[in-house]
Amino acid sequence: MIVLKFGGSSVADAARLRQVADLVLAARAQQPCVVLSAMGKTTDALFAAARAAAAGDLDSALQSVADAFARGDTTARELLANAPEQLLACESALATMREELQVLLRGTALLRELTPRTNDAIVAHGERIATTVFAALLQARGAMVTHLDARCVLRTDARFGAATPIRPAIAALAAQHLAPPLATGSIVVTQGYVGSTSEGFTTTLGRGGSDWSAALLGEALRASEVQIWTDVEGVLTADPRIVPGARPILTLSPAEAAELAAFGAKVLHPATIQPAVEAGIPVTVRHTQRPLGSFTTIDPRRATTARNGLAALATRGPVTVLTMTSTRMLAASGYLARLFAAFGELGICVDLVVTAEVAVSCTVEPDAPLERLVQALDGLARVEILRDRAIVCGVGEGLRTAPHVVERACRALGSITPELIGFGGNERNLSFVVRQSEAALAMQRLHAEFFAERANRAAAAEVSR
Ligand code: ADP
Ligand code: ASP
Ligand code: MG
Repeated sequence: MIVLKFGGSSVADAARLRQVADLVLAARAQQPCVVLSAMGKTTDALFAAARAAAAGDLDSALQSVADAFARGDTTARELLANAPEQLLACESALATMREELQVLLRGTALLRELTPRTNDAIVAHGERIATTVFAALLQARGAMVTHLDARCVLRTDARFGAATPIRPAIAALAAQHLAPPLATGSIVVTQGYVGSTSEGFTTTLGRGGSDWSAALLGEALRASEVQIWTDVEGVLTADPRIVPGARPILTLSPAEAAELAAFGAKVLHPATIQPAVEAGIPVTVRHTQRPLGSFTTIDPRRATTARNGLAALATRGPVTVLTMTSTRMLAASGYLARLFAAFGELGICVDLVVTAEVAVSCTVEPDAPLERLVQALDGLARVEILRDRAIVCGVGEGLRTAPHVVERACRALGSITPELIGFGGNERNLSFVVRQSEAALAMQRLHAEFFAERANRAAAAEVSR
């Protein structure tokens, strides 16, 4: 069987959902399990509703929710105009969900309190609206469909808002609830992003988590492929919003994909690759509106070969750079351990680390509790803080030994002076920390250096055809 995951823009309206239905029905012979995100920006609207309710502004909370459901209702009416039975069932399911959501928001507004648990119960409605409409559409088109509540399968811990999946439990639950309908030829439609604790409380996997859901279900069902359908022709050489000339990449090693995702390539959730790779399942990234176009394959069964340069660029920001200068004896053993123990105690994640004789620099998330860190390091290090920085990174297998990569990158950056450089920590990553305001230009310059030639060659080949 295969898992097909469709992201928010792929399910944004009736026209898109029709395309998705075409793709799913065309894959019928492969026993598809379909994982959907919420439609368009619904999740953002639900987060806004939860915040408004917590602030006591029930009217605007209810308005956000009304808008989200209006989208679902309108889409259902458009798609199911000729299927009154399915339309009725769909409308009544949506109405029940809306009532439940209104109760949650009223409670939140009354108490003026929004716990992470309540927030999850609220925002999970986005995916539930999408699958309700889509399952009805498939039924209306004559398919055998099982609309499965992801909370029956996607077991997680109770870290609401950023829950960790419990993979053995998911495997057992998938065998129980997912495998049987698939085996009888039914198309399974379920929600991404949403899970539940063993006590039955709704959880979410963190923003963009539907990709992760797809990979987890793929692993649990030992799928032959996990397909991530989105609004770009696979993973591109850079974020196309930053580098308009970014080009599709045909194959990525799992490590390259993981690295790109971790460093900001939003097209894949950072945790997606892991379950699929561990289960030896290829992941492909495809364009819903151009199903016959290019796509990227990340295949853990294929041997990884070194590239003679970069595979892609990514950027993540803002990040904060901390430079800690020792106020203690230098080169004392255990110094770094004590330094980073303070980070660990405060739950601060460190990305890039560069050390010099008397100083250690690292990047951390912008919302890290720095005042407390500075206090904790009192007597051990003096801390200098630089905010509004970004990491710009190039990824490619065998980068460490590829000739002239660092030289070319530094030359391409030109007037942009990196404040930190990370290289050689692994085989495939070259990272620069620059000012956030210069990150886009740095990406464009690096892209021109490493990919323009390739792009020109491809364009020339196109013309000569
Ligand atoms: P979905 O809603 O389908 O999950 P996302 O918005 O999460 O889609 O991810 C797709 C978007 O990721 C693209 O539209 C693009 O703007 C962005 N993106 C960032 N980096 C890359 C990259 N290297 N390749 C392709 N897309 C990228
Ligand atoms: N709907 C969720 C979000 O917007 C999950 C996802 O789309 O992957 O973050
Ligand atoms: Mg996404």
